[in-house]
Order: sequence, then structure tokens, then C-alpha cells
Amino acid sequence: MFWQKNIETLPREQLEKLQLLRLKATVKRVYAKVPYYKKLFRAKKTAPKEIKTLEDITKLPFTTRDDLQKNYPDGLLSVTKDKLVRLHTSSGTTGKPKAVFFTEKDIATAANNMARCLTMTGVTKSDVLQNMMSYGLFTGGLMMHYGAEKIGALVIPAAIGNTDRQLLLMQDFGTTSIHLTPSYALYLAAIFEKKGRAFRKKLKLKRAYMGAEPYTEETKNKIESILKLKVYNSYGLTEMNGPGVAFECGFQAGMHLWEDSYLMEIVDPKTDRPLPDGQTGELILTTLTREGMPIIRYRTRDLTAIIPEKCKCGRTHRRIMRIKGRADDMFILRGVNIYPQQIERVLMSVAHVEKNYQIYLEDNDKMTVKVEITKKLFDGNLEHLKKLQFDLTEKLRAEIMVRPSVELVEPGTLPVSEGKAKRVFDNRKIY
Ligand code: ADP
Ligand code: ZN
Repeated sequence: MFWQKNIETLPREQLEKLQLLRLKATVKRVYAKVPYYKKLFRAKKTAPKEIKTLEDITKLPFTTRDDLQKNYPDGLLSVTKDKLVRLHTSSGTTGKPKAVFFTEKDIATAANNMARCLTMTGVTKSDVLQNMMSYGLFTGGLMMHYGAEKIGALVIPAAIGNTDRQLLLMQDFGTTSIHLTPSYALYLAAIFEKKGRAFRKKLKLKRAYMGAEPYTEETKNKIESILKLKVYNSYGLTEMNGPGVAFECGFQAGMHLWEDSYLMEIVDPKTDRPLPDGQTGELILTTLTREGMPIIRYRTRDLTAIIPEKCKCGRTHRRIMRIKGRADDMFILRGVNIYPQQIERVLMSVAHVEKNYQIYLEDNDKMTVKVEITKKLFDGNLEHLKKLQFDLTEKLRAEIMVRPSVELVEPGTLPVSEGKAKRVFDNRKIY
């Protein structure tokens, strides 16, 4: 199903023509209206007239998180303040908040992109979407809400937490789709397991949209099998409107990124050089339609690759792979680069492992992985526990080349995060 078939399946050549037109307009706009950009352009000895093809984008300066923070609260606006209708800030998982402003048209575009996303997974106006993301400054709640409402679905603005009420809402109002973070989904899965099959049978759940933080294919599989629904990956960030930037279609093989709204590039995060399609690097995004606060070559710090092949669904907007992690999530132990997702992938693929885990780093290159395991195993035979601990240690060592100590803990002992999960606790004083 399509929300805007003609634009979603626009032949590449025409799509690229449209991108170039919009890129030129965006560049002109920021150069004329945002003094900070003019300064950045000049420092790079470039100007709007340099942009003749899409490849010329590499002549433009990057915008970093630091640039947004330096311009906090409203230094990057390209319209007068009376044109603005909404403010969001990033959830601040990392560092100071960044403020992003929207005009009425910007909100409409974001909602429209979100409506495309939901429609391609089968949502119609007969659906009931329970939005279990926090509402407020965080874009996750409101932007999804607007997109689903645009389709005409019934939206339950449940927000995050209060799990008993969430379950009641699902049951009483026939929720078909839920929107939530992977960490909350793991928590919910544990509750579903406790409630048993009879409870699940009462529900009409068909799909879950999961995003806002990185998670692995293994976590997705686990959620799909316990909640008995389809999990669609949803990618977005506040700086680029929040959710609705890239989304999985019914084929669930990578996320279509709306290329009429964003120009994407993948660069090597160390050398800044562009990487060819298929290679993993940092995703760089330029807004193509933003009025209030256009952003040029934003360094997302998110690591992914472009899937160049055409998708079976017929959409011409290219897909990106599951986000491998954030360039700044990575930590180094004994000279080895490690991403928390590598550890999660191993944990979630092993039987008897529950949903919650934490990684502790201490001096002398010590790493401890605390992981919850099933109650049955925890209370059972000591030999089985020892075997699981050994297996996990070996599997982790094979994956990350470092042997961690693995601590098996009872389910429910590690703290549950209602927002974004904190997995890594780096207590090292000496690096
Ligand atoms: P913050 O950077 O403060 O967390 P946001 O709330 O805007 O601010 O979060 C956006 C970030 O969340 C993205 O840059 C990305 O790192 C992460 N993210 C969002 N969706 C996904 C997803 N589907 N998979 C992996 N990471 C995601
Ligand atoms: Zn597709």
C-alpha cells in the first residue's frame, strides 16, 4: 500500500532532479538567511553557485552536533520567529540538548512522511495505534501521533510507562499497532510471557514500530516471537524531524529513507571521505524541504550502509541497513573497538537469556557483562548455570576478541529504563 504512490515510486532520474532542485534552494536559503552557515561556507571557500550536481554536496561544510549546541537556542533559524509553530529538543542521550524548530509546513511534511511509513506496513484508517513513546520535547511521541492521525487511524496517546494501563488499553480498545523503544519492548515481552497465551489471544496486535535506539536482528526476532507480531524498524532523529526519516516496508529488508526530503551520504567517520553504496560508515543527512531550520550535511554519528538494489515493493527511495550503532557508542578495550550491539547480538541469540543486560568497564581492561537469565535456570541446577556462563563467555570472546566476565542475574534485578536504555557504564579512570 502506498500513501503517495507517484512520489514513492518516482523514477530515480526524476527523483534526483527533484533533489538537486531542492538542494540548490536549501543552500541558497541558508547562505542568505543564516549568518552561521554563511561563515561556514566561507571558511570552506564555497558558495551556493558551486552546487551544480548532487555530487557537489561534498563541497559543502558538515554540520555537527557541536554546531547545533553552539547555536542553542535559536541561532540556525532561516525564518522569522512568528513563522514557527513547534519546538523540539533532542532527548539528550549524549551531551547538551539541541533545539529544533518547525514551521507549519515543516510539521505537515514530517507528518506526511510518517504517514507514508505507516501505510507501507499496512496501517489504514481502521487501525488503532497505541503510541507508547514519550510525548513532549522528544519527537518520538508527537511526530508519530501526527502521521497516524493523518492516515485516519485511531491514535491512543498512551506515552511510555505504566505497563498495567498499557495492557488494559490494548485489550479494551483493540490496539493493532504499537510504537515503542526496543528496551521497553523487551520489558513488555517479559510481562507477556508471565501473562501467558490466553492473555495474548485477547489482543488484536499485528505490528510494532521499534526505534529511537539501536537494537539487533536478534532482539527483533525475540520480540516478534514473544509478542507474536511483526516488528518494523523505524529510524529518525530530532534534528531531521524525529521518526519517519527511514522505515521498513512490508518486505522488512532495510529502511527506505525518504529521499525527496533528505539527501543522504555515507562517509568514513575518520577520513570524512564518501563511501560507495553497500559500505558501512556514518550517515550524513541534508534536509531538502525544511523551512524553519534547514540543516546541511548533518553528521548523525549513526553507522549504516546504503542498500542500492531496488526493493521488491517498487519504491525507488533507497534503503539503509539496520543502524549498527553510534560512532560515539563505540568503546575501546585492550585496543579493540567494540560496539554494545555486538554484545547484545550474542546475548539475544542464546537460550535462557532474558531481556536485560548491562556492560561495565573497569580499570585494567576489565569488562563485566551482567545479564538476566530465566528464573527457571537461575533457581535450577548449578551445573547448568556454570555451563551457560561458560558458553556466553566463549561466544562473547569469539565476537569481540576480549574475554569478559559474565555475571548471570535473576530476572527483574537490572533496572528497566522507560526512556532510552543505558547499557554501558564506563568506570575507567585510566585509558
Ligand atoms: P539523542 O541523540 O539525544 O538520543 P534523539 O532522540 O533525536 O536524540 O535520537 C536520535 C538517535 O536515536 C539517532 O541518531 C540514532 O542514534 C538513534 N536511533 C533512532 N532510531 C533508531 C533505530 N531504528 N535504530 C537505531 N538507532 C536509532
Ligand atoms: Zn520496500
